[in-house]
Amino acid sequence: MENSALHIAVVPTPGMGHLIPLVEFVKKLHHHHHHFSTTFFLPNNGPLSDAQRSFVFTLPPAIDYIILLPITFDEYHGNIKPETRIALTITRSLPFIRDAVGSLHESKKFAAFVADMFAVDTFDVAREFQIPTYLFFPSSAMTLSVFFHLPQLDKTVSCEYRDLPEKLQIPGCIPIHGSDLFDPVQDRKNDAYKWILHLANKFRTEPEGVIVNSFKELEPGAFEASEQKEKGKPDIYAIGPLIQMGSTSEVQNSSECLNWLDEQPISSVMFVSFGSGGTLSHAQITELALGLETSEQRFLWVIRCPSDKPPSGPDDPFSYLPEKFLDRIKNRGLVVPMWAPQPQILAHVSTCAFLSHCGWNSTLETVVSGLPLIAWPLYAEQKMNAVLLHEDMKVALRPRVGKNGLVGKVEVCNVVKGLMEGEEAKGIRSRMRVLREGAARALRSSPGLDDLTKKWKANVAARA
Ligand code: UDP
Repeated sequence: MENSALHIAVVPTPGMGHLIPLVEFVKKLHHHHHHFSTTFFLPNNGPLSDAQRSFVFTLPPAIDYIILLPITFDEYHGNIKPETRIALTITRSLPFIRDAVGSLHESKKFAAFVADMFAVDTFDVAREFQIPTYLFFPSSAMTLSVFFHLPQLDKTVSCEYRDLPEKLQIPGCIPIHGSDLFDPVQDRKNDAYKWILHLANKFRTEPEGVIVNSFKELEPGAFEASEQKEKGKPDIYAIGPLIQMGSTSEVQNSSECLNWLDEQPISSVMFVSFGSGGTLSHAQITELALGLETSEQRFLWVIRCPSDKPPSGPDDPFSYLPEKFLDRIKNRGLVVPMWAPQPQILAHVSTCAFLSHCGWNSTLETVVSGLPLIAWPLYAEQKMNAVLLHEDMKVALRPRVGKNGLVGKVEVCNVVKGLMEGEEAKGIRSRMRVLREGAARALRSSPGLDDLTKKWKANVAARA
């Protein structure tokens, strides 16, 4: 063996919302337990995006990485759902992962093999090398509970879940409409559903443990349900909230956003953003813009080109805004293209609320900053997060979607004003303060992480 550090193999999946918490988990592990080292094996389907590159290329020295050969899907002619694309990226990368792990296996003491939720097929490789397997679950304990429950739902429900008249009772969670379950289970005939069911079956039976990016004070019921002991069910380790609070120097638009916020009154700005890849239709961009304008509130909006942009349409997101919008709002609004330093914006004293797509990382970052939300879910499991925030935790307003599928400008104006000035907002803010205190406690001590590292050290000692 080359050195005495215990080594962790980590397989993320390409999306930033999955990569960021997994890297933060490893950083936290290194911070608290210096005797671990890590190699990331990075499956991909083409060149890394700018955001991925700036993130991966600035990893601390204790975190090594290997970018695997890219995977292609030429036979799908572009017609492939995101979940299927990710699952295939992983299964087609298995030979590369096997070679890469094999090349390190002689020189490293592997204590654990940690795979993102979409990468659990790589456990086959871990087992070949007799490395204990752990699932990294970057989302809520509620979503994990849905995954654990899905094989049973699949057996007992014959129609589409969205057509069920009653809400679903997921163990430990607030009842939820089938139409609010995550996107890939909305069409049971699609390949994406089969992939999700395949993953769900593995989650219950294959890993030794599940590492969840949440904390027990935030989701007590869902954790209790997932921790119920059953034969073969993995141990659950709550290690959240893992949030990215690193340097902003690499991030595009960083200084523009933070300098602008510095000039705004304390607690006066609504941050508006739809995650690392969320986009709105052109018509929805127009309604949102006009609603923000008529609300007369301060806002900072990260904008992208519309989801229905014609191939020949301009690549400048600003060109899809209503005419003269930027001139009219310039005294109280800032619009930036593509990307902003979100965690720093949420932590800034001038920011007082967040209109969010409810991605889980954004949700945790908001809880840590103690900001109330407007829940505007778009895809993936975001509707479930919106239900959790709006109906269960009661820390968010949720705008009504009109018959035309859009949130109209009047509704936007009402929810923005409601959250910034309304009476209802007082209760929301005080409930969010309680959650923020719980998050601060979870950040100070992490019993889940301590239990996990004890287990890993014991595993290695037992095999020595
Ligand atoms: N993010 C950011 N700037 C942006 C958009 C996103 O820093 O302009 C970060 C955000 O802080 C979060 C992650 O990207 O950590 C997005 O993850 P989330 O789970 O919220 O949503 P997803 O992108 O997976 O839909």
